[in-house]
Amino acid sequence: MAKKHKILRTEDDISPLNRKLINTVCHKCNFYAEDQEYWESEYECGAYKLIRQMLEENKLTFEEIEDFFTRADLNPERELR
Ligand code: SF4
Repeated sequence: MAKKHKILRTEDDISPLNRKLINTVCHKCNFYAEDQEYWESEYECGAYKLIRQMLEENKLTFEEIEDFFTRADLNPERELR
């Protein structure tokens, strides 16, 4: 962690679903800052909340998320279009 942050939550405060989402989605996100889930007061973006809701409503699975990521352009230098 480069900067000093005030720790707001520990691993015990993060539900198993959120932990899996952070590992599966946030760790591939260009906006993810190391360990942000422990110090950001509101670390969940709209896409994160949408994906979690879809998982909770059984409209999406982690296997499908992983499959989508095999085709997603994760290059942070890509041209916006
Ligand atoms: S919460 Fe959203 S913006 Fe933040 S790291 Fe996760 S996917 Fe990226």
